[in-house]
Amino acid sequence: MPLRDLPGPVFYVAAALVGLAWSAVATAALRRLPRGLPLLRPGPTCPRCEAKLGGLDLVPIVSFLVGRGRARCCGARLDLSPLLLELSCVAAAIGLVPVTLRSLEPWSPLHRAAFVYLASAALAHALLVAAFIDARHAYLPDAITLGGALLGVCTAGLRGQDLHASLVGACVGFFVTALPFVYGPRMFGARPGLGLGDAKLMILAGAWLGARGALVALGLGAVQGLLAFGIARAVGRKILVPEEVRDEVGGQPALPFGPFLVLGVLERLFLGPALDAFAGVGWPPW
Ligand SMILES: [Zn+2]
Repeated sequence: MPLRDLPGPVFYVAAALVGLAWSAVATAALRRLPRGLPLLRPGPTCPRCEAKLGGLDLVPIVSFLVGRGRARCCGARLDLSPLLLELSCVAAAIGLVPVTLRSLEPWSPLHRAAFVYLASAALAHALLVAAFIDARHAYLPDAITLGGALLGVCTAGLRGQDLHASLVGACVGFFVTALPFVYGPRMFGARPGLGLGDAKLMILAGAWLGARGALVALGLGAVQGLLAFGIARAVGRKILVPEEVRDEVGGQPALPFGPFLVLGVLERLFLGPALDAFAGVGWPPW
C-alpha cells in the first residue's frame, strides 16, 4: 500500500500512540540510567516510599492529574521532569509526522514510511531523555550517544542516507567538538568548553544528519546556549551544573551545554536539510 492512500489523521493518531508508548520507556530511562539500573527490572517503585508502582502510575500525565501533583502511595510531591518528558515525547512524535511525509515520495510503500518515521521518533525520544538527564545529572549516557550513533550508521541506507555520508558525518561531528573544545583546552591546562559526552553527542548528530547537518546543529546549539546564558546573567540568574553533582564532574565545564546541543540536533531533525542552505553551510558537498 503506498503512502498516499493512507488517510492523514490515521498517521497522526498512530504517532500520538507511539509517543505515549515511547514516553513510558523514556521516563523509565530518565529514572534508571543515572542510577545504573536496567530499564525493566526490578519493577518501578516510588522514589520516596519505595512502594511498587503499576498501571496508571506509570503514565506521568495520568498520575499527575489523578493525584493532583502528589504520589498516590505516600502523598510525596511528584517530580515534574517525567511529566515534562512525556509531554515532549508526545509532541515530538506528532511533530515528526509532517517531517516524515515531507521527506518521502507519495508513492513510497507504507512499511518504508513507518520505518523512517519510527527511526526518527526513536532518535528524538532518546535525545529528549539525554537532555533531561544532562540538565539534572550533568552527563550524557553513552548508551544514548554512542548507541544512537551506531543505530544511525546501521540504518543509514534504510533511511535513504548515504552510508559514506553517515560515517564521515560521525567523524566530523566528533573532531569539530573534541579537538577545539575538549582535548585542546585540556592540553593547555584550561577548563574545557565542552564535555566528552557533548563530543559523543555530535558523533550521533553526524551519523544521523551528515557532516553539514551536524555543523548546523552544533551552531544552533551553541548560539542558543550562549543566548540563554547571556539572558540568565542579565536577569541575575545562573545556569550551572547542579550543585549536588558538581564534585562528580570535576573536569567538566560548569555550563551544561548538552541540552542546548540536543535542541540544535532536534531543530535540524525537524527542519530538515533546507536549514543547511539557510544557515550557509555548504561543506562537504554531499
Ligand atoms: Zn510513595
